Amino acid sequence: MRCEHAIAAAHYAGALRAAGIDCEVRNTMLSGALGEIPFLECAPQIWIRHALDEARAREVIDQLRAPVAGEPWTCRQCGELLEPQFAQCWRCGAAR
Ligand SMILES: [Zn+2]
Repeated sequence: MRCEHAIAAAHYAGALRAAGIDCEVRNTMLSGALGEIPFLECAPQIWIRHALDEARAREVIDQLRAPVAGEPWTCRQCGELLEPQFAQCWRCGAAR
């Protein structure tokens, strides 16, 4: 399966491994070669080692991709804009 960004791919792969699914990320090293290779060929991909794990892998990734409920919020102390899943400011540590 393809992922938009190498960072997202690494994030998904970590989550899959945490769920007990053996996988690896490929093609991330090719991102410097854009222009020589059609873009889609360069997109990082997650390879699931066991075909039987694929359905479960898709479930894990769907969960990660699901939008988090709630609105982004702004820290009262430092003004940082924060994602809804954070209960604390990552910059200054102030509670929401
Ligand atoms: Zn803050």
